[in-house]
Amino acid sequence: MDVAQNLTAIQQKIRQACLKRNRNLEDITIIGVTKYVTIERTEETILAGITNIGENRLEGFQEKYNLLKDKGTWHFIGTLQSRKVKEIINQVDFLHSLDRLSLAKEINKRATDPVNCFIQVNVSGEESKHGIDPDQVIPFIEDLANYPNVYVVGLMTMAPHIDDKEKLRMIFRRLADIRSNVQRENYTHAPCQYLSMGMSNDYEIAIEEGATHIRIGTKLVG
Ligand SMILES: *Cc1c(COP(=O)(O)O)cnc(C)c1O
Repeated sequence: MDVAQNLTAIQQKIRQACLKRNRNLEDITIIGVTKYVTIERTEETILAGITNIGENRLEGFQEKYNLLKDKGTWHFIGTLQSRKVKEIINQVDFLHSLDRLSLAKEINKRATDPVNCFIQVNVSGEESKHGIDPDQVIPFIEDLANYPNVYVVGLMTMAPHIDDKEKLRMIFRRLADIRSNVQRENYTHAPCQYLSMGMSNDYEIAIEEGATHIRIGTKLVG
């Protein structure tokens, strides 16, 4: 299937989820996750109108960024090792995986301008998942005030690979609750207006629960 056809099907479902919760379509950003596919397929994605591109590995990010940078907005969605920050941070428009102070410190040192960051939260509590514990998010954000090049635009989570829709819903709802708690604090360095949640298998539920950025790989480009 070409990307444009896949996109039409996804947009239809996004529209339904928005209708259900009285949300505006314009408030949802689709990030095309191109980690499984070639440069050509990534270009096709951009031509289809998905200009927000997400990669989870340094090499894949740079390969696509180097050839297509002027045509896209670039999201790094994978775990970032502190020693790799200097190689990539000034190319990243949005980092979705801020999960520790040592990383914030390195970003602060290496970035030439403030970086838009999502804090990754481990809502599901799975051992294998990266991310801050939900009850540590506020203290973490308070510590980030010391790092002027880290600007917190939102929260991100990865749900487990399960089919239980209600469990998924509870995870997304929890992230939305945490965001409300953060917003109530009115931090100037952390307006935290966005929620990056929802992938190929669960994006409709994520939108129903408030997602502003959905990260779609398989169903869009696969
Ligand atoms: C791979 C990946 C996605 C996309 O997953 P699909 O199930 O293929 O849509 C989203 N977010 C992150 C962090 C990923 O690594």
